[in-house]
Amino acid sequence: MTDTIRLHVPENSGFGMSNLPYGVYSVGDGVKRVATRVGDNVVDLAMLLPQEEEVFACEHLNAFMAQGYQRWVQVREAIRSAVGGEVPAAAVHPVSQVKMHLPFVVADYVDFYASENHASNLGRLFRPDNPDPLMPNWKHLPVGYHGRSSTIVVSGVDVVRPCGQRKGPNDPAPVFGPSTRLDIEAEMGFVVGAGNEMGTCIGTDEAEQHLFGAVIFNDWSARDIQAWEYVPLGPNLGKSFASSISPWVVPMLALKQAHCATPVQDPEPLPYLHMEEPWGLDIALEVEWNGEVVSRPPYSTMYWSPAQMLAHTTVNGAATRTGDVFASGTISGPDKNERGAFIELTWGGKEPITVGGQERTFVLDGDTITLRASAPGEGGERIDFGEVTTTIRPATC
Ligand code: MN
Repeated sequence: MTDTIRLHVPENSGFGMSNLPYGVYSVGDGVKRVATRVGDNVVDLAMLLPQEEEVFACEHLNAFMAQGYQRWVQVREAIRSAVGGEVPAAAVHPVSQVKMHLPFVVADYVDFYASENHASNLGRLFRPDNPDPLMPNWKHLPVGYHGRSSTIVVSGVDVVRPCGQRKGPNDPAPVFGPSTRLDIEAEMGFVVGAGNEMGTCIGTDEAEQHLFGAVIFNDWSARDIQAWEYVPLGPNLGKSFASSISPWVVPMLALKQAHCATPVQDPEPLPYLHMEEPWGLDIALEVEWNGEVVSRPPYSTMYWSPAQMLAHTTVNGAATRTGDVFASGTISGPDKNERGAFIELTWGGKEPITVGGQERTFVLDGDTITLRASAPGEGGERIDFGEVTTTIRPATC
């Protein structure tokens, strides 16, 4: 006889039966395996559903994600039914007693720029002489660039301050050294579970079949390196040193109640970007700087939807594959306390904010940044994404 227990979900938990996210855990330095989270416990999925051992006694989610939409639906129902009953006691561990890992092998990574407030604010800061803060293409396509997937790390992994070239507008020549304008970007990341073949494209109405889930995404940005390097091909070393994600992948299937209309898209996008169903998402984020909440970016204000980002990524016949991530771009609402990057919150460093009683602009060594997110779930439940927490270590150059 196997010992069994019943799982308890504390009142107001964001990890109730309507969430059931996927992550990869280990006990100490033991073997990594796939789990879900219920309340304050992780539940080993290969032990919960022995028939799914092939995809869950795994160090990452890729094998499961690659099985496609019908399996995501079927297995989610099986998990939901199993966690509501008697569960093998050996499958259950308090979250405080496990280590969470990068949940999937990251394939390709694209970062978008989908917030009109963020793009306008950055336009004003980076191109102050331009009368229109948005570039002429911005309302016609979701602008993005290809980032570095190998430096996407999970919450809890420290990030070392990057070194590089910078040159202020009045400096006679570039200098090399640690970034002096290290910043965050509060974003959501969307994970492709099942990709498309090269030469085909994914319509906006097919996004559900391909998008497996979402994570919180902190796109670390060295503004001084970025400002000097980005013309004409876009960001490179100012971004590629690190991005941090939350360890739980919340299934898109758990976010059905969170769908909402995007802001009105005017001018009307070209037909391949037309949306029949609302694909905006009502996700509320929170930015914490050394334990103090400094901003609450609303994802619902994002101009371009994840379905449009995916349709645009593939409209030229580019392939996507299991483990691809595309991030939304910084989420900034219209209000100052809704801005998802410190360059906007402090207006290029000219308007410091008070954090822990000190005037602050950009991120200092030893600072800890935490991003959190939540969304409405079924039956009035709240869906929590958990958090991505990162501490900055001094540069080594
Ligand atoms: Mn970004």
